[in-house]
Amino acid sequence: MKVRIEPRDECLGDGICSDECPEVFEMDDDGLAKVITAEPGDDLREAVQSACDECPAEIIIIEE
Ligand code: SF4
Repeated sequence: MKVRIEPRDECLGDGICSDECPEVFEMDDDGLAKVITAEPGDDLREAVQSACDECPAEIIIIEE
């Protein structure tokens, strides 16, 4: 599984993804989310999917 945030400048900075899965998402100093683990293991699949589903900007992209 590969994860990215695109386009990142559309991030609303609400921190939902980093709350949902802090192993993969982190809020940057600029207030936007960034991916810190681009290829998370299967153990994080559910949390990453939740973050993707809950992202109000719909910018979290998961590729298998
Ligand atoms: S859930 Fe979406 S809008 Fe919210 S911080 Fe994460 S990437 Fe940004």
